[in-house]
Amino acid sequence: NQLEEAQTALAGPLYADVGGDLEVSFEFFPPKSEKMEEQLWDAIRTLEPLGPRFVSVTYGAGGSTRERTHATVARIQRETSLAAAAHLTCVEATKEEIDQVAEEYWAAGVRHIVALRGDPPRAGEKYQTHPGGYENAAALVAGLKKLHPFEISVAAYPECHPDSADAAADLDNLRAKMDAGATRAITQFFHEPETFFRYRDQVAAAGIDAEIVPGIMPVTNFAAVKRMSAMCGTEVPAWLGRLFEGLDDHPASRQLVAATIAAELSRRLYAGGVKQLHFYTLNRAELAFAICHLLGVRSRDEKAKAAA
Ligand code: FAD
Repeated sequence: NQLEEAQTALAGPLYADVGGDLEVSFEFFPPKSEKMEEQLWDAIRTLEPLGPRFVSVTYGAGGSTRERTHATVARIQRETSLAAAAHLTCVEATKEEIDQVAEEYWAAGVRHIVALRGDPPRAGEKYQTHPGGYENAAALVAGLKKLHPFEISVAAYPECHPDSADAAADLDNLRAKMDAGATRAITQFFHEPETFFRYRDQVAAAGIDAEIVPGIMPVTNFAAVKRMSAMCGTEVPAWLGRLFEGLDDHPASRQLVAATIAAELSRRLYAGGVKQLHFYTLNRAELAFAICHLLGVRSRDEKAKAAA
């Protein structure tokens, strides 16, 4: 029982269990203004020394950030030591248009795509395949694999995607994405470690043998996260709401509370055998940096100093 194992592992001295063998990746979104661009690059430069496996850049709803996502991914690939992954969705585009975007990534040296279906352009509507477009993420993965030997990550849903009839259909869809050529799934955010452990067991029981990486969203704005959780079917535990009561006018405290909760969630996942985490950074470096630090992730310089 993975939950009991995790609890036993956590019973010792605080943070004695962090081993430095955790691998991390970071997600950013493409900036809309010069000021946001500065914030993004500050985040990238702060997190780069931690040696993440990759960093990814999201693709705006309906392909609205196509150029900005491309420019950001290409610049990361060109100007940093990081491996950049580009998110790509099927929304509002023909196969030819999407293939063209992928070709541009390949030409820019980008070898990793996070392949997604995307959401309908207008919230609340049913997803419709664009005429001549890819019908879902599995079809997109297959299309990308035909173009080039990209490394491909896809999305996974520990609490089931709202469009799935049930958990079994959701797992069948994950299997289809893996069979089409994806090598890893990154999960939607969730709030309790048990949610992930249960899902990992379901994935294994379904015979899906892929790397499932928990997506960690540090919660600083409870109202916003509650809205997002409702849209994607993520359970919000009562304790989370209570922790944010009375903090509306205390943004600095909210950051500290967010770091504490996300570090605790990450530490429990690690105690349960998770060795890879993906952080939704929202382009702010400090939270992800502090959480990684608590989990024993150190910069290359620090590791060299410790080894000397
Ligand atoms: P899919 O895996 O294709 O499927 C979604 C659902 O539809 C599944 O429940 C599946 O069961 C059902 N389904 C699929 N095909 C069929 C079919 N043929 N018949 C019946 N049912 C079917 N969105 C963005 O716009 N930009 C991003 O950059 C972005 N990044 C993300 C990163 C991560 C890690 C995650 C978890 C999500 C991200 N999303 C992003 C959100 C994502 O686009 C939405 O969750 C979307 O609704 C589903 O995308 P998917 O790739 O999971 O879809």
